[in-house]
Amino acid sequence: MKLIFLGPPGAGKGTIADLAVGALGLPHISTGDLFRAAVKNGTSLGLKVKDIMASGGLVPDELTIELVRERLGQADAAGGWILDGFPRTIPQAEALGKIAGVDKVVNFDVADEIVVGRLSGRRVCRSCGKIYHVANMPPKKEGACDIDGGELYTRDDDKEAAIKVRLDTYRAQTAPLIDWYGKKGSLMTIDGVGDPKAVLGRFMAAIGR
Ligand SMILES: [Zn+2]
Repeated sequence: MKLIFLGPPGAGKGTIADLAVGALGLPHISTGDLFRAAVKNGTSLGLKVKDIMASGGLVPDELTIELVRERLGQADAAGGWILDGFPRTIPQAEALGKIAGVDKVVNFDVADEIVVGRLSGRRVCRSCGKIYHVANMPPKKEGACDIDGGELYTRDDDKEAAIKVRLDTYRAQTAPLIDWYGKKGSLMTIDGVGDPKAVLGRFMAAIGR
């Protein structure tokens, strides 16, 4: 099963995808992870991505598509996958269509004010990257990671002004994909509000699993 997860930043796509990995046995492919892995592995694509990210720029479509193409060609992706964070634009969706077919596009619907609450409460461990939430998933000790005691901080893009920019970008660039895939008949919309396990349950029911 080849799935694309769509939804605004903070819709919980990554969390639901991680839960669905166990339930469906498909790899969770996130472009954020692909960028970080390419940089870490020092591949030629990774070196380009590193320069772009260091200068604060957006990774151009051709590079992103190339990374996705490589990843979808790996053995564990042969039986399907969950793509999260890609495609973000209609040109990316057109490029993906040349690489692979898609069975279902799952749109996680979450209102803006809920997104702002989710993202602005998010905290990340400076040493291991584990994500917490001040209300929904607090660490045992305030400000410190449960695993390694690392300092928890708010990422710049989880600050309120940045969240607004991310939502505006989503509305302008990514939300049009909802109509685009809708016309192709592969779209399903899931209520993304509530506990991740409840959202996963709605998603599993919608795909008949
Ligand atoms: Zn940690």
